[in-house]
Amino acid sequence: MKDKILGIFPLDWRYDITSLPYVRSVLKSRWVPFLIIVFNLFFFTIILMAGVVGGVSAGNYNFAIMFVWILWWVMLMLVFVPFFSRIWCSTCPLPAFGEWIQRLGFLKVRNKLFGLNRKWPKQLKNMWLMNFLFLGTTYTTGFLTTRPIATFILLMAIILGSVVLSTVFERRSFCLYCCPVSGFQGLYSNIAMTEIRCKDPEVCRNHNVSTRAKALGCDYQQRDCVRGNENGYACPWLEVPFNQNRRNTYCGMCFECFKTCPYDNMAFNLRPPATDLVLDKKRGLDEAWKAFMMLGIAIFFFLIMQGPFGFLKDWANAKTLAGYLSYISVHSTFNLLIFPGIFFVFSYASHALGRTELPLKRVFINFSYTLVPLGLMAWIAFSVGIIFANGSYLIHVISDPFGWGWNLLGTANFPWTPFMTGMVPYMQIGGLLLGLALSLDIGFKIARQTFKNRDEAVMGFYPIAAFLTVTTMFLMWLFTG
Ligand code: SF4
Ligand code: SF4
Ligand code: SF4
Repeated sequence: MKDKILGIFPLDWRYDITSLPYVRSVLKSRWVPFLIIVFNLFFFTIILMAGVVGGVSAGNYNFAIMFVWILWWVMLMLVFVPFFSRIWCSTCPLPAFGEWIQRLGFLKVRNKLFGLNRKWPKQLKNMWLMNFLFLGTTYTTGFLTTRPIATFILLMAIILGSVVLSTVFERRSFCLYCCPVSGFQGLYSNIAMTEIRCKDPEVCRNHNVSTRAKALGCDYQQRDCVRGNENGYACPWLEVPFNQNRRNTYCGMCFECFKTCPYDNMAFNLRPPATDLVLDKKRGLDEAWKAFMMLGIAIFFFLIMQGPFGFLKDWANAKTLAGYLSYISVHSTFNLLIFPGIFFVFSYASHALGRTELPLKRVFINFSYTLVPLGLMAWIAFSVGIIFANGSYLIHVISDPFGWGWNLLGTANFPWTPFMTGMVPYMQIGGLLLGLALSLDIGFKIARQTFKNRDEAVMGFYPIAAFLTVTTMFLMWLFTG
């Protein structure tokens, strides 16, 4: 019998959106995603200007804060990542300058890239640096959501960082290993209901490359999607596009492989949710910690922004130095040590009950991926609380982006109007229960991979199921209590 997600969707079900000829020709055009990047660049320029000149005194009415932390962040968590994986990265304007400098142009393909093109250091080829950079960014959450200049500084740091690193390191090394918002997009895109994979592995196997390269075992480097050709660039994210056993984590969905493949053998598939989480390959401690941190940070953010503890907000807003230092230490200790430590205890119990020969570390890492669906749903629940309560600010600021008294669309005086707030707790509970169901479903599939037989998998999964259930109940109490 075929394995299914939630007992409904066969794991291997796929529908290739690019089987519609119009969609394929759009993705093969060099104008895509270039034009969307240019549009977003225009929009982000307004955001950056608003960060400097707009409404410093009233954070809630600032265009930069509203569009980055209310609209963009919420869209990322609610729509982009769960449905379209890293689609944001394909249209993100922040690393565009770095990439254009490497390419010395906008549309013309020139596979010899400008810059030193160094390889990223091997020890840093993981998510650790991004984990710490993201954690560092969360230290400033109190400023980011109240002081527009903080948003300006963060965005400029990403733009400048990507420009500098693009001149030193190869392709999108910055996005792969440094961007603070890259790690969680990568991890949570394992859940996404879309993917970019090759259509027919047989066509890739028979892709005509030299016999000598085949004999030397380096024939994959000669494939057009790996080395680039006159129609497109070698995969900027250093993926091997035709590898069927890769996850969405490090695919920036740039669509270059659609342009380079001479056999039109790349597909943009719809698929069941969370299928990558079942892939028993390349699971690592760096991604495990990302999963812990994301869930822990969602809890902290909720407590700071919507929770009943006013002193936490004061700590995060740095009302006093002592309070701010307390925030940093409690926040870091909880996310880096306490939360993973609690999970370790449950993994230990799982290891003992399931009696697997695998090392405890492997059990701990494998099961950490069960936190991905629940973590994303916690962020969605958090985002729903923000957008329904504060979304109306967007209507206001769009008419007066710099706080100069403009009324471009006639909505500058639109009052703050919370929307359907009575429904929010039900949506949050529904989302968290769905997250729990997915986590349990994926968790048992991982248990089957981790333990020898079904009975041991059942025994070994009990502690993890208990952890997931208790965490979900805690989140429901937190969000709706
Ligand atoms: S990794 Fe960061 S900078 Fe790079 S494209 Fe994605 S969001 Fe933009
Ligand atoms: S260029 Fe096309 S056919 Fe060749 S390996 Fe890449 S995806 Fe497969
Ligand atoms: S070229 Fe690489 S990053 Fe771009 S869509 Fe293909 S596999 Fe993903």
